[in-house]
Amino acid sequence: MKRYKVFRREDAKKKLFSKLSPVPVTELPAGERTDLLVELSQTATSQIVHVPVVVARGTKAGPVLGISAAIHGNELNGVRIIHSLLNGVELDKLSGALLCVPVVNVPGFNAGARRFIDGVDLNHAFPGKKEGKPSEQYARAFLNMFLPACDYLIDIHTASQGNINSMYIRADLMSDVVRHLAQLMNPDIILHIKGGDGTIRHAARKRKIPAITVEAGNPSMFQGRMVFDGELGIRNIMTDLDMYPG
Ligand SMILES: [Zn+2]
Repeated sequence: MKRYKVFRREDAKKKLFSKLSPVPVTELPAGERTDLLVELSQTATSQIVHVPVVVARGTKAGPVLGISAAIHGNELNGVRIIHSLLNGVELDKLSGALLCVPVVNVPGFNAGARRFIDGVDLNHAFPGKKEGKPSEQYARAFLNMFLPACDYLIDIHTASQGNINSMYIRADLMSDVVRHLAQLMNPDIILHIKGGDGTIRHAARKRKIPAITVEAGNPSMFQGRMVFDGELGIRNIMTDLDMYPG
């Protein structure tokens, strides 16, 4: 009987459509890694979509560095960069916290697809809409859960299908802080782009959260060199922000 779960529409609605508050980073245990599965949205057939969120909190106070990957579901290098970083960081040496979302576009990732399940590019759907398309509702819920908890944002991508990328950064170079973050990644190329409408970087900029987009290599594959360089760049940023010894 365990496998037959009674579904109560009203309960589900109450739970999911109450306003999703930001990840309570400072309420989680210091000096520990906490793995969360956040109930972010619901499919058309009422399955709950969980988004994996990892909070690695240091023992000392400091900024919260947000790191997101796979807003495009076929972009894998960022997933590996986040895992590699989390596996290597010693939390007793960390000040502040890493707030990591290895896979933002969970439905796309599970389908091996770049776009969201409604065919929309999720990185054109921010800040989202309450009564919008599935992608817009998802984007809105994600933004409310993630962005207000971040002091800085690194959003990791790769090239789109059929394209080949080096390691390059998209950033608003008119901001001194953002330009510095971009340089610390030590990429091959830095591209000055304010951040088009609908991107998570644009949403961050509107909230005055310094943010860069990292384009790390090619889609649909894991590339060791990109993972190595990406992690090194993020460690440079952590050192510069006095979060971690360099
Ligand atoms: Zn992308």
